Amino acid sequence: KCKSQYGKHIGYYDAGTVAKTAQEMQIINEMRQALEEERFVIYLQPKMDITTDQACGAEALVRWQHPERGLIPPGVFIPVFERNGFIATLDYYVWEKICGMLRGWLDMGKEPMPVSVNVSRVSLYNPQLVERLTGLVEKYRIEYRLLQLEITESAYMTNPELMLETIHALRCAGFTILIDDFGSGYSSLNTLKDIEVDILKVDMKFLPVDEEVKKGEIILASVIKMANWLGMSVVVEGVETRMQRDFLIGVGADYVQGYYYSKPIPQKEYEERYVFVEQAAEKEEDCCKMAA
Ligand code: C2E
Ligand code: MG
Ligand code: MG
Ligand code: MG
Repeated sequence: KCKSQYGKHIGYYDAGTVAKTAQEMQIINEMRQALEEERFVIYLQPKMDITTDQACGAEALVRWQHPERGLIPPGVFIPVFERNGFIATLDYYVWEKICGMLRGWLDMGKEPMPVSVNVSRVSLYNPQLVERLTGLVEKYRIEYRLLQLEITESAYMTNPELMLETIHALRCAGFTILIDDFGSGYSSLNTLKDIEVDILKVDMKFLPVDEEVKKGEIILASVIKMANWLGMSVVVEGVETRMQRDFLIGVGADYVQGYYYSKPIPQKEYEERYVFVEQAAEKEEDCCKMAA
């Protein structure tokens, strides 16, 4: 049984590798022009407070709007950019766009909810990271707490000391730090012991898929309790069903993100649903008044 599974895996891997090279070449050839032509578009996925069912922020997730291939998900091009270093440029582009968006909401008199951005491993180990981020926050005159930073757990392995130092500096500057994909790597408990972060984003792989109680659920319930004891809050990613939501309420989760509530959506749609909502209500009121 083990042997055949192993064989299947190798087969997959080989096919993937061969197919990838041509695609990877195209991605590398087109990336700079795509950036210039603003073909990297940012979608927003709301984070929900599980107890109130209200949005309490969002995560910025990039997509590539390709003229021939349509909307390309980040899983296709981000790994390529992590290998060739272009991710540092794209990360900065996304951060600046989000700062500009937050500035825009403030200028319109809105009280924005925080937005988190992803910080790739390459950006995390850039010695200019803190300067680059504080520079943006100052340039767009936004509060530090509005730009949250998601750092993937797997980055911890590369150089734990440097990562802890960088996170410390970012927190001192006023940023909120989230550990992304918590539980998906090999360093989870070690990370928890050493790191000072505000929020853990727990990987979706622990979520229940049927009525039966599985190990994943016990781990998830314990991680939530542990995080709370350590003074951190938890966002559970990838919540897709009502059953998962009910389970999470039962084990005292704080925040959730997932298709059950909303997929990542274009900025305009996010604004209509979550930012300009009072405005829409006012408009409705005006219409009623006019009708009356
Ligand atoms: P991530 O930061 O862990 O983001 C969560 C991913 O889970 C997103 O995939 C999101 O669309 C997806 N997701 C959300 N809810 C559900 C759900 O209910 N079910 C399932 N199956 N998936 C859900 P996406 O947008 O494809 O992004 C994939 C990864 O690409 C991200 O994982 C992140 O690591 C990376 N990424 C995306 N945007 C950026 C960026 O601007 N910079 C960097 N460095 N990485 C990014
Ligand atoms: Mg993330
Ligand atoms: Mg994640
Ligand atoms: Mg991820």
